Amino acid sequence: MQSPGSQALADAHAQLAEAIAFHEYDEGTHAMLKASRRELTVSIPLRRDDGTVEVLTGYRIQHNISRGPAKGGLRFSPDVNVDEVRALAMWMTWKCALLDVPYGGAKGGVAIDPRRYSSAELERVTRRYTTEILPIIGPQRDIPAPDIGTDERVMAWMMDTYSVSVGHTVPGVVTGKPLSLGGSLGRSSATSRGVVHVALAALESAGIEAVGATAVVQGFGKVGRDAARFLHQAGVRLVAVADQYGAVHVATGLDVELLCRHVDEHGTVVGFPGSTPLNGAEALELDVDLLVPAAVEGVLNGENARRIRARIVVEGANGPTTREADHILSEAGVVVVPDILANAGGVIVSYFEWVQSNQSFRWGLDEVESRLEERMRSGWTAVTDFAAHHGITLRAAATALAVQRVTEAHRLRGLYP
Ligand code: NAD
Repeated sequence: MQSPGSQALADAHAQLAEAIAFHEYDEGTHAMLKASRRELTVSIPLRRDDGTVEVLTGYRIQHNISRGPAKGGLRFSPDVNVDEVRALAMWMTWKCALLDVPYGGAKGGVAIDPRRYSSAELERVTRRYTTEILPIIGPQRDIPAPDIGTDERVMAWMMDTYSVSVGHTVPGVVTGKPLSLGGSLGRSSATSRGVVHVALAALESAGIEAVGATAVVQGFGKVGRDAARFLHQAGVRLVAVADQYGAVHVATGLDVELLCRHVDEHGTVVGFPGSTPLNGAEALELDVDLLVPAAVEGVLNGENARRIRARIVVEGANGPTTREADHILSEAGVVVVPDILANAGGVIVSYFEWVQSNQSFRWGLDEVESRLEERMRSGWTAVTDFAAHHGITLRAAATALAVQRVTEAHRLRGLYP
């Protein structure tokens, strides 16, 4: 079996090959879109709180910058590896093109388990990593944002490190910043809001009433938690939630606000009073209307795809469905709303934050949220119309549309020299 990182990259390459074949583009175009534009691997020597030194490895990969500066999250996870970062950077290129935000795609990662390090140690890791990748980032070059294991505090350290090194404050170098440092209203919940906009649209188009529809959410972090809350607010009955420690099940529906309080106190959904414990794999296989994987890559795969009974899968995470699972689910009639559409709310509001930071101007929450909803809905309509017109899956349609836009940018710019 391949490692999750190599699997993700193989899947990303296969999706691209399918889009190239769909458009009948030449091999040169294929080769150009397959290769990362820049890949930087850095060593991060860390002085631990006990005085010992440990050397970590970090990456920043810019897949494509033909439509604008590179944009993509920074992940702190022990599983980070170069192939995973390459795949995630490529998906960012497609996501930005699909939703028509003026960016290319990038991703960063440090192979570290942040739960095993103190806040002071994480700050040193972040500042050293930022310094090492400094030559290739900047508000007009590459703009990081939070992802797994990172948050607004990490973005504040990155922004400060970059600003100190150039000698003035540059809020536009990262997004997902704290509000008091130029973050945007609505950014922290934007990915989840976007996930729920498309989940509700998908339920509607499948003829399933949202009120009383059943759902499972996997991952209860920045994306999964608010997705669970917004689904609950829309009347969807959340019957199970999973995180990396396990899952909890309540057939009549979980009280999401109480669950949030439990997680704040205990750091996991496990042990939520009144729930039945499940293992994470069992939660994914429950018979529900909607499954939202919002954790990590490859959780729906060749091994479990035939046991997935959800009618609709909305990918909150990046790459949660392997290519093999995609085929199995599609043949079984399960609608899979792909990551590059479903979780694009984050990069849309990151773009709004970048615009606000660069203009030193703040938009109101209503403006942010209504613009987000408009873009998610028009993304949904574009992808579903294209898929229906060509008789292809939503993922194939979304990738084909995105690849077409990036290719057009390449052709218009020409090849230098
Ligand atoms: P996070 O670190 O805030 O939360 C991750 C959650 O997943 C945690 O609840 C963790 O317990 C759970 N988890 C980890 N491994 C798991 C496993 N094997 N099984 C079950 N649960 C597991 O991360 P996040 O920012 O919420 O990101 C989640 C996913 O969404 C990632 O794929 C990320 O790339 C994607 N994403 C995030 C954003 C964003 O704005 N944060 C935007 C777009 C996409």
